Amino acid sequence: MNKEIIVNIEIPKDSNIKYEFDRKKGKIVVDRILRDGFKYPANYGFLEETLDWDGDELDVLVYSERKFMPGVSLNARIIGAMKMIDDGETDTKLIAIHNDDYKLEKIENIEDIPKKWLDKVETFFTTYKNWKGVGTTSVLGFKGFKWAIKEYNECVKLMKKYGSWDKNKFIKEMKKKHPEKYTK
Ligand SMILES: [Mg+2]
Repeated sequence: MNKEIIVNIEIPKDSNIKYEFDRKKGKIVVDRILRDGFKYPANYGFLEETLDWDGDELDVLVYSERKFMPGVSLNARIIGAMKMIDDGETDTKLIAIHNDDYKLEKIENIEDIPKKWLDKVETFFTTYKNWKGVGTTSVLGFKGFKWAIKEYNECVKLMKKYGSWDKNKFIKEMKKKHPEKYTK
């Protein structure tokens, strides 16, 4: 089982530059350079029809050997997710497979992805931000398609309802309404 999506790429695999889509500006901006040789283990992007509890679009890690440029969009299929908390806010990363790569046709679920890749992703997201003043993250494991699609649908609803809200206002309100999505 999978679900087709269109991913907007922000960061290419192996990049040490953190590019970020700014919804207000409608542009991709450079956020910062990662410290200490950290490089993104996978292509990283977002789904414009979704809003996550951190006030940004839902993030997606795109499994592929290729590096995609910031600003392009590609077809992918959701196969799972990584549960994550970033600075006390739910910050799920969906895991998707590039859909237009013949080499990846056989990958149908998260068990088909090499464990090495999942480990690399987990290590990166556990450690890349843990610098004084930058913030802290924790990874709470990987989930399969069922969990991921529930999360996706929830974030589609959030975007429909709150997409026009200011980010700070959204987080403040959600902390009151859904405290279970936040740890501080
Ligand atoms: Mg996020």
